[in-house]
Formats: sequence, structure tokens, C-alpha cells
Amino acid sequence: MRALLAVLAMVWALAFGAAAQDLSALARLDAGQSHLQGDAGGVEIALAISQPVPWRVRLLDDPPRLILDMREVDWKGVETLALPTPVRALRAGVFRPGWSRLVVELDGPWTVARSEMQTGDPGAVVRLALEPATAAAFAAEAARPEPAEWAAPKAADLPPSPVQGSGPVVVVLDPGHGGIDPGAEREGQTEAKLMLTFARELKEALLRDGRFKVVMTRNEDVFVPLETRISIARAAGATVFLSLHADALAEGEAQGATVYTLAEEATDEAAQALAERHDRDDLLAGLDLSAQDDVVVTVLMDMARTETQPRVDRLAGHLVGAIKGAELRMHRHPHQQGGFSVLKSPDIPSALVELGFLSSARDLKRLEDPEWRARMAAALVAGLAAWAEEDRAIRAVKGG
Ligand SMILES: [Zn+2]
Repeated sequence: MRALLAVLAMVWALAFGAAAQDLSALARLDAGQSHLQGDAGGVEIALAISQPVPWRVRLLDDPPRLILDMREVDWKGVETLALPTPVRALRAGVFRPGWSRLVVELDGPWTVARSEMQTGDPGAVVRLALEPATAAAFAAEAARPEPAEWAAPKAADLPPSPVQGSGPVVVVLDPGHGGIDPGAEREGQTEAKLMLTFARELKEALLRDGRFKVVMTRNEDVFVPLETRISIARAAGATVFLSLHADALAEGEAQGATVYTLAEEATDEAAQALAERHDRDDLLAGLDLSAQDDVVVTVLMDMARTETQPRVDRLAGHLVGAIKGAELRMHRHPHQQGGFSVLKSPDIPSALVELGFLSSARDLKRLEDPEWRARMAAALVAGLAAWAEEDRAIRAVKGG
């Protein structure tokens, strides 16, 4: 155990000591020289990269997984690696600006017996040896806190409601997924990239309108935890929060835009599954930031939600009305509800728009069509404008 700690300490020192150096060049994975092998008795991982970079390794639970963070590594080709039985899956991509992450999903409790980077000229090989561990040892290791510089920003405490004066309407646009979490994937397209493209276009359309200020939760292909997205909305003093998605649904016939709002009781199983999948993707890619339930905070949040609920309902109504008004294809149940974590700001009216479903070939074609996207963006601008006007009038009458 002591030896293990020493190795881990070295890895930490390496990762953070070297982080300050200028290592902006991208290293590439050499999949041909890399492998994962082993069985229930032990697993060996060797990853060859084109140049040495700062790195770190750690374990996380629920589900059990090994996290390998490396400075700017292009993981292309990692999907071609064969997986030994104890490794359930690999996922890789940008985790945060400048850092890429490889997530190795494991079939149970394991421990890192050895971890080292062998540097050659000019490449390097990261070698990891995993050994079976007891559940208790694994849990202790996985519970090790992240150093401050790695922890995701904490969701802000509950501040007073954003000011709803006569200033511009602050729209926070949240392109779903990103980086290590690509979201739905079809025919070489990813939900993450399509949503970033659409969000940028919608932002331009909102700014052209003149009544809106726009803040994006991400402006590049990078992973942003769900809680951080809420924190960004909070810090921006958002009037309204719009999360943009185009997931794949198992339900065969699903197509057309759908507006989702938060409710404890999901409209149906598909809506519930969608909300759960987003939580799971977020958890797999990032850290477990499950909120601590404080009774007082919960009561305050419930009160705020009661206030916000009618505003959310009107928001969904205006968005659905505007999309229908533009004669754009909508799902046969255009307004649905589910337990989406990203919609849980108690005092910021929030909605999640599935612009379409990547599981539908027609929807995918629409999302790839700039003309269709422009019409959808115009419809959302119209819906947001109509909602903001009505919302302001109602709140003025109420003296709020
Ligand atoms: Zn999504």
C-alpha cells in the first residue's frame, strides 16, 4: 500500500509540477502500439503517445472506473483497441480546456498496482497495472477528494432572484454534451457538435433581435458538468435558461422538436430514460457532485420553484407555439416533462429543447440543413420574445 501511495504521489507531482510548462503541442495516441490485456487476475494497459505530457490517474466509483487525465492528447483510434473482460468500455475526449480524459469502465473493484510513463525519443508509453481489490479498499481510494484545482466549480448558493427590470433579457444557451461526452452519435455526426453549431447561430439571431443578452455555457467542444452549467446561468443572472439537445431515442418513430420542462413525475418512460441518460453521461465523464440535501435549502428551493413553475409553463407554451407557428416539425407530444438535472435552477425559468432526434434520419437531415436551422432559430427567438414580454407584464402587475 505504501508503495502504491508513493507511486500515486509521484504521478500527482508529475501532473501538477509539469502543468506549468509550455506543452501546448498536441500529443497523439498511437493505437497500433497500445493495448489493454488481462483477465480476472489482473489487467495491463499500455498507451503509446507521440510525446510525453503531464498526466494523472485515479479511480472513481458508481460505476467503478479508472480515470486517466492527460494534457492535450488526441485519443483518435482508442475505439479500435480490444478490451479484456474486466474492462466494460472506454470513452475518451476533451474533459476541460487543455486536458483530455480517458475513462476505463471496470467490472468491479480494482486497484492501481503500478503506473508509470516511460519516455523514449520522441514518444512515451503510459503503463498501468491493475489488480483486483476488496470493495472497501476500492471505495476508500475512489473517495479520495480531488485537489482544489481539479474540482469542478461548486454550484453557487441560492442567491436572490435575478433582477427582472427593464434591461435586456439574459438568455443562457446551453449546447448539450461536449468533449468527452459526445451525446448521441449518428452517421459521423455528434449531438455535441450539432448543438454547438446551432447554439452559435441562435446566439447571433438573438443578438440581431436587439432585446437579448446571450451567455453560452460552452463555446467549444469541451465537457461541462451539469452543475457547472447551472452555476454559469446563475452567475450570468439569467432571465431564462435554454438547454439544446438532439438525442437518440429508442422509441422508433420519435421525430420532431420537443420542449421538456422539469417535473418530478416524468411524462412517460422515454422522457424519464432521457433524463437519466444525461445524468449518467455526466457522471461517467466527470466527478460525482451529488448535491448535499440541506433541509432549509430544500424548502427554499421548493418555494422558489412554486413561484417559477407558472413562468416555466408559459415559457414552454410560447416555445411550442412559435415552433408550430413556423410550421416546423414537432413531436406528437410537443411539451413533455422529466427530472432533468440541468433544469433544476429553482428560480430561473428553464427548458430543454430537443430540436429533433438523431435516431430519426429525417431529423438528422434537418439539423444538418443551415436553412432549417435558421428557421428554427428564428422561431425560438420569437418564442423567447413573446414569453419575455408576457412575463415582464405579469411580474409588473404582481409588483415583482
Ligand atoms: Zn442530449
